[in-house]
Amino acid sequence: MMATTHGFVGLALTTVVAAFAPELAVPAAAGGIAGGIFPDLDVAAEHRRTLHFPGYYTIGALPAVGFATVAPGPVTVGVATFLLAAAVHSVSDIIGGTPSAVPWESEREHAVYFHASGRWLRAKRWVRYDGAPEDFFLGAAFALPSLVLFEGTIRRLVLVGLGVSLVYSLFRRPIGRIAARWE
Ligand SMILES: [Zn+2]
Repeated sequence: MMATTHGFVGLALTTVVAAFAPELAVPAAAGGIAGGIFPDLDVAAEHRRTLHFPGYYTIGALPAVGFATVAPGPVTVGVATFLLAAAVHSVSDIIGGTPSAVPWESEREHAVYFHASGRWLRAKRWVRYDGAPEDFFLGAAFALPSLVLFEGTIRRLVLVGLGVSLVYSLFRRPIGRIAARWE
């Protein structure tokens, strides 16, 4: 899925904080957005492996969420939402396609690397590729609760993210074909 979709999912996770502890909404949102996007920075390295940790982020997120619950503060909540969003991102890449400039043509089956067992997890392709129409609509659905609950900078970020998602989705195939020539 698109990094923006993951960002919207990460932010949606933090609407719970915004609803019950509004004074911590901003650090929670910042952690959720950053954690949702962070793993995809490995697109410059070995994509879906270098910064994707489906297991380790999850193992880190569980105690971090517990700690933030008993000792809520900007740092504990921000760290917890960052790790949780990065874990959900890494695990949810399984439902997408395979990392490639032209994933709709790729015969490869792998989705995301599972470091603990040293192997790639299989792509289920429920979302066929990043920037597919279903990817855009999935992201928009996750963005909705944040548009309602957040205001100011966070809401503006969501709107900009939706615009980026839309443009990327509309041009995903030509972008992919150009990128494939450089691979
Ligand atoms: Zn990813």
